[in-house]
Amino acid sequence: MSVYEDIAAIVGEERISESNLDRICYSHDLAPLPDDLLKGFGATKPDVVVRPGNLSHVADIMKYASGKNIPVSPRGGGSWGLGGVIPVGGGIVLDLSGMNRIIEVNIEDEYVTVETGVEWKRLTNAIKKHGFYVGACPTSAPVATVGGYISTGGSSGIGVSQHGPLGDHIISLKVVLADGTVVQTNPWDSWVFVGSEGTLGIVCEATIKIFKKSKMKHMLFGFDSLDAGLEAVIKLNEINPYYFTIMDDGFIRLLKEKGSQLPESKMILSITLNDMDGVQEEKEKIIESVCRGTRLSDDMAEEEWENRYKTALSIKSLGPTLLTQEIRLPARFLGQALSEWKTVLKGKRFAFKGVCSDNGAINLFPVVLTDERNKNEFIKTLSYTREIARIGRKYNGDVYGIGLFNSNQMTDIHGKSLEVMKEIKMILDSKNILNPGKTVESPIPDFFLSFIFTLMKHATPLFAFLAKSVNRLPDSFVNNASKFLKGRK
Ligand SMILES: Cc1cc2nc3c(=O)[nH]c(=O)nc-3n(C[C@H](O)[C@H](O)[C@H](O)COP(=O)(O)OP(=O)(O)OC[C@H]3O[C@@H](n4cnc5c(N)ncnc54)[C@H](O)[C@@H]3O)c2cc1C
Repeated sequence: MSVYEDIAAIVGEERISESNLDRICYSHDLAPLPDDLLKGFGATKPDVVVRPGNLSHVADIMKYASGKNIPVSPRGGGSWGLGGVIPVGGGIVLDLSGMNRIIEVNIEDEYVTVETGVEWKRLTNAIKKHGFYVGACPTSAPVATVGGYISTGGSSGIGVSQHGPLGDHIISLKVVLADGTVVQTNPWDSWVFVGSEGTLGIVCEATIKIFKKSKMKHMLFGFDSLDAGLEAVIKLNEINPYYFTIMDDGFIRLLKEKGSQLPESKMILSITLNDMDGVQEEKEKIIESVCRGTRLSDDMAEEEWENRYKTALSIKSLGPTLLTQEIRLPARFLGQALSEWKTVLKGKRFAFKGVCSDNGAINLFPVVLTDERNKNEFIKTLSYTREIARIGRKYNGDVYGIGLFNSNQMTDIHGKSLEVMKEIKMILDSKNILNPGKTVESPIPDFFLSFIFTLMKHATPLFAFLAKSVNRLPDSFVNNASKFLKGRK
């Protein structure tokens, strides 16, 4: 029997597809990685796309895939920009977004239990009715799933600077391991799976602490100098507001091109406080004194909050390709890193947006607008992402997530701990079938990648020609080569 028939027998024919269109759609996420480049990474179309309906389906699929050595790439809303769901070596894409039941909202003990395919916005709306909110939530909440945010680290976004990263709020997870075994975690060993990018297990259910809602206050400040804005950001990290974001003058200009009424400034800081600890008014006064800029109207501040899910991508059409790295770094190094990034990106159309993280860190998105239809220009711009990450590391920061996009920097990112991570991976997934090519193993050896990036930057047309030639190879050839490189039969 074929893989299609075998899995259809587990989940039913309505939950599996091998149509070419579905396979094309599920071979990408938001990452603007051109097909030519992806094929060189061993990333091809999946053989089948499956939408399991419950945890037992997932467990039975993993037992089957493990027996046959078939790669499985879990996928939530596909909203991550780093290619984490792209199926390296083909195999099965597991679209978990259909497993989206809100199983229990427990008001008395203040927790919620959900299937992890539920989107954050649906979850927050469901608990809002009971007067509760979550402690951490991504600004991609309308599409991002609970499982996706857990698996990408959950330490940047709404609520994180006050309540800490999502991992701190997880009470328990139900996870399907690579061989189909189901484990239930406690709050401490949940951390093994937080940020594991679908490489250690498939997170199917989550029980998460929720918080009582209190009144919110939104504030907006414009700064005439970048230094004054950066000074305020460092001090804000001592106050831990519920949420804050940063926009530099480049980002503000792009928003204005899209019709925003925000005033011209060197930096704009948007801050939200809640009144959970009953000291909202005191915090508001402290913020007024540390933000030595112009306080903008409450209406504008309110509007910024209302737009919290939209702002980041609203400028994309100006590219139309938006290339970004996400760098998490301590707020006090922001100024120096910004200045170096600006030097590297000179001549490009770029801007910066930042979102609060935990422990005094900021997640900064250097955004470059480009056009992937102009292949050579795009490839050259893509080569800068490695340099952007290098500057982040120089200032005690690093990329926030690996996926396929940053897999070329595996050794730089992990250093010596890469060996420990490989051992953990071997214990939980000895056949290396869960989301291969991510987190602990680059699909291409490091030395070769450095060479590739040099070609991308300095011999762009030659690189484009080579990549196009690889893209002409049949998928089956690339899949076999990919298996061979990873020692899988
Ligand atoms: C406009 C915009 C705003 C964003 N804002 C934020 C933000 O504030 N904070 C932030 O951290 N990120 C942010 N992101 C990035 C992204 O949306 C988040 O990381 C999000 O949590 C990913 O969820 P997803 O369901 O789309 O995951 P996907 O993109 O589908 O998957 C991401 C990774 O998780 C794995 N995965 C998914 N589900 C599971 C599962 N159930 N079990 C195991 N592995 C799984 C996948 O294999 C993949 O490696 C933003 C993105 C956009 C486009």
